[in-house]
Amino acid sequence: MQVVTSVKELQTLLLDFRKNNKPIGFVPTMGALHNGHISLVANSVQENAVTVVSIFVNPTQFNDKNDLKNYPRTLDQDLAKLVSSGADIVFSPNEEEMYPEPDNRIFDFGSIDKVMEGAHRPGHFNGVAQIVSKLFEAVKPDKAYFGEKDFQQLAIIRQLVLKLGYPVQIVPCPIIREADGLAMSSRNTLLSEAQRKSAPLISQTLFKSREMAQNSSVKDVKNWVISTIDTDPELQTEYFEIVDDVTLMPVNKWDEAQGKVGCIAVKVGKIRLIDNIRYNL
Ligand code: AMP
Repeated sequence: MQVVTSVKELQTLLLDFRKNNKPIGFVPTMGALHNGHISLVANSVQENAVTVVSIFVNPTQFNDKNDLKNYPRTLDQDLAKLVSSGADIVFSPNEEEMYPEPDNRIFDFGSIDKVMEGAHRPGHFNGVAQIVSKLFEAVKPDKAYFGEKDFQQLAIIRQLVLKLGYPVQIVPCPIIREADGLAMSSRNTLLSEAQRKSAPLISQTLFKSREMAQNSSVKDVKNWVISTIDTDPELQTEYFEIVDDVTLMPVNKWDEAQGKVGCIAVKVGKIRLIDNIRYNL
């Protein structure tokens, strides 16, 4: 496995693969790697001749300065995990390399970036679009792997690819969870012991809501999820929306959309966790 910090070095390493039409797989991350990230890498390793993993904590997607400051950075441990995952190239640039000058691009994704994460984290998806476009232009991957944990982000990335015409296939990967159901997240390491004990109530409630949905209205399911999670003093639901999986617009009735996903953001003290679940009705 080779670790590079500049776009130039990265492109030199990829030259032969591109010339020989060998597929390049790409997994963008912000590091503090866990098995969710590693599952994306494993999928890429299986489907491509070479797998590039980027590790970059992108400042432009953080709307909360403290979140950026406290975001876990564990490069040595990340590299050790990547060696055993089969990744070939790690691209770990600094801020100057990715933003030699300020990126003033403003993206418009229509309604899909105005709801949920877009509404609660102003500028977040614009920052995601800035960095992912720069990374796609540096790596020029054939396939790029994204987790369904960040369900709305996946929809934004698909739009970005259409808008900018990148010849890349976006591969969605399922949410990887801890044994108690908590969706794996780099931010889980920031939870106190008490918060970590409470956090699985989020996914456990989402799983139960799937049973409840069989004979309850969308509104009743939504209210029940929020009130159940908020009974725990460590947890405060920021939003829970049941949305059309393509438009991301809220559904009021189960038959209003083909695919329905319940998306949640919960504050656990100062830490913000997200999760989602599909309703097969
Ligand atoms: P991040 O480092 O948080 O920016 O995440 C990098 C990629 O890993 C994104 O595509 C995430 O959706 C994905 N990811 C993060 N957590 C999980 C998880 N628990 N299961 C699957 N994919 C995940």
